[in-house]
Amino acid sequence: MDMDAKPPPFGCKHCATIASFRNETARMPKTCPTRTHLDVVHDASSYLEPERHETMVAADAIPFTPERVLRNRVEELVEFAKLRGHRRIGVAFCVSMIKEAQQLSRILEGEGLETELVCCRVGAIDMSEVHLPKAHPERFAASCNPVAQAKLLNEREVDLVAQLGLCLGHDLILQEECDAPVTTLVVKDRALDHHPIRALRPQAT
Ligand code: SF4
Repeated sequence: MDMDAKPPPFGCKHCATIASFRNETARMPKTCPTRTHLDVVHDASSYLEPERHETMVAADAIPFTPERVLRNRVEELVEFAKLRGHRRIGVAFCVSMIKEAQQLSRILEGEGLETELVCCRVGAIDMSEVHLPKAHPERFAASCNPVAQAKLLNEREVDLVAQLGLCLGHDLILQEECDAPVTTLVVKDRALDHHPIRALRPQAT
């Protein structure tokens, strides 16, 4: 037996049935993790831990209003924060989305929540200080500063952070540094008006 043999990929990689959605075992591929890793994937115990269970209950409840009208993502954020008792919301935003971040703040505060906003260019650190190349080396160019965004939001003891449009990579650093959980409200995609899913659909342009 070859001890270095790679296991086959999880069936989800090429699945055409999505049979797990309806628990149709006979239609699941042989490599479906629902069949091959039952002990891992069928263990519901972590969802019964109180904190996590509250998150699951909130996530389940937010998509629709009591009148069964779909909420948009901003409305979902408001509802989620209320259900989870997150009173202070930190907003870590890209400088290119300052107007949207401030509009978000107004919406959240209109719903009785508190907000704290921090821009990605806070600190005005020149890119040369972090050893990054500049198109015009003689001119100042502010580096993104997700560590400072996180530290400032930590100082204000926010309960939840919503990030708007941080660069891929800077968003990871923000998540590493934030004390509070971080959710993404807007994914930055400069080429696709912040709709990365358009690159994944057949009609993508
Ligand atoms: S979990 Fe199983 S049935 Fe569901 S998509 Fe993956 S391989 Fe297909």
